[in-house]
Amino acid sequence: MVLFVYLGMVGLREIQGLMAEIYLERDRRRGAEKTLLWMLSEAGEVADAYIKGEGLREEVADLLAWLLSFCNVVGIDLEDAVMAKYGDGCPMCGGRPCRCPMR
Ligand SMILES: [Zn+2]
Repeated sequence: MVLFVYLGMVGLREIQGLMAEIYLERDRRRGAEKTLLWMLSEAGEVADAYIKGEGLREEVADLLAWLLSFCNVVGIDLEDAVMAKYGDGCPMCGGRPCRCPMR
């Protein structure tokens, strides 16, 4: 509950809006496919940073930024999408926390 209140101050929607303000014009010119490829490249950089034990904080920020850029280009409000899928708990078992068998 405390986390939810905190996110209400600067939530995912506000961060997505910030990314749009900074990058939307460029993201639209680049297009959805190339933006998606950049996002996947950033996921690899997160893995590299984790393995090397340095730069992880910056790389996870970049990964979210590229995901939000992709969502901006294809017209998805990520906060809406996440809450629609996970807002009532685990989509499979409905639990909070999840009670599904570990994968
Ligand atoms: Zn579950």
